[in-house]
Amino acid sequence: MFEKILIANRGDIALRIHRACREMGIKTVAVHSTADAGAMHVRLADESVCIGPPASRDSYLNVPAILSAAMITGADAIHPGVGFLSENADFAEIVAAHGFTFIGPRPEHIRTMGDKIAAKRAAIELGIPCVPGSAGAVSSAEDAMGIAQEIGFPVLIKASAGGGGRGMKIALSIDELGQAISMAQSEAEAAFGSGEVYIERYLGRPRHIEVQILGDSHGNVVHLGERDCSLQRRHQKILEETPSPALNAAAREEIAEIAASAMRRLGYESLGTIEFLYEDGAFFFIEMNTRLQVEHPITEMVTGIDLVREQIQVASGAPIGFLQADIVFNGHSIECRVNAEDPVSFRPSPGRITDYHAPGGLGVRVDSALYAGYEVPPYYDSLVAKLVVHGTNRNECLLRLRRALDEFVIGGIDTTVPLHQQLTKVPDFINGDYDIHWLENVFLTR
Ligand code: ADP
Repeated sequence: MFEKILIANRGDIALRIHRACREMGIKTVAVHSTADAGAMHVRLADESVCIGPPASRDSYLNVPAILSAAMITGADAIHPGVGFLSENADFAEIVAAHGFTFIGPRPEHIRTMGDKIAAKRAAIELGIPCVPGSAGAVSSAEDAMGIAQEIGFPVLIKASAGGGGRGMKIALSIDELGQAISMAQSEAEAAFGSGEVYIERYLGRPRHIEVQILGDSHGNVVHLGERDCSLQRRHQKILEETPSPALNAAAREEIAEIAASAMRRLGYESLGTIEFLYEDGAFFFIEMNTRLQVEHPITEMVTGIDLVREQIQVASGAPIGFLQADIVFNGHSIECRVNAEDPVSFRPSPGRITDYHAPGGLGVRVDSALYAGYEVPPYYDSLVAKLVVHGTNRNECLLRLRRALDEFVIGGIDTTVPLHQQLTKVPDFINGDYDIHWLENVFLTR
């Protein structure tokens, strides 16, 4: 097992990884930008190294600085966390070339799944059902026309290098296709440095269902059930729950097994999430994330399995310590993403935290790096806390969630807590009756 892990991230996820390391008897090294010198992940780590100025490209994406920090502190392994370098195959290779273990999948799997066109091709080969669409990139409106007519309008133009919901454009009819393609191409070029786009059928009212996978270097792969992440704004997840209120036992088992056996065939190692859209009883693959997910805690709440601990263990070469049949799914769990944003306009709201009180009690977990007196910097992702609750069933979970939200005090900045308070009281949500467009088209337009 590793003796010392460098955590190449910040905020609540850096703390989350630190906690797993501590419980495993592994020392931690925090890295931080100058803006994060007083951050909780730095305070709790055994050692810390400043890796650059505030801008992410100069600090949390600064590969030479991160490698130097690993060398001078004598770390054995690097955990990339979520975001930043976590899905960067070149980084994974460079880390290994310098004699450190990258805590994540093999670089070739990160690379394939990071390119959405290659990922879709791989998914088809592995027997995973995909959204009908182009077999590869489309270069022009003429090229796209035939495909769009075959799959039917509306269609979605997506960036091959896309992420975070950017670089997607809908074309409702043939008249809109040319413009949608050129807009998606230029947006993708600007955001990702590649203008390569492809076409998919646009699904009108699907749910976003994803399956959690864990693989080891001995060929074992298990699934840890699904998460329903249909509550989204601008393709960004706001609240996630497991199990999905939309699936029955047979559908749940079917999709989880498809995902696990595909990953077994691929020889996938580490944590991974296969994302699907689910409409009219059918699943369609959209992408795979080759890393820990923000919403991993809800899976931990219903399985009792520490996913980060398992991820570290398999990275050290150990086999998964349990079988699929040993995994028991218990009750219901919901996560609310609390962002430092105005709950109505969604404008970012960085600043000093004047008061902080996290909810507690049975079945309540808060993953956050906030504390009273902390200054939320304006440079990074606006996620400042994850409120995760567990109940023996969905109703108990909901009642507990409302109670926990009412207890949460984050003074000095605006947060999305009031949005969650309202969301958890509306009938459609209470009934589990929502699709990926509901939050934006129904809830936020009330
Ligand atoms: P990203 O990597 O940018 O997050 P995804 O492929 O995961 O891109 O898609 C993000 C979200 O966009 C999905 O959760 C869903 O809400 C929406 N989306 C993606 N593909 C489709 C589609 N074919 N039809 C309708 N909505 C889609």
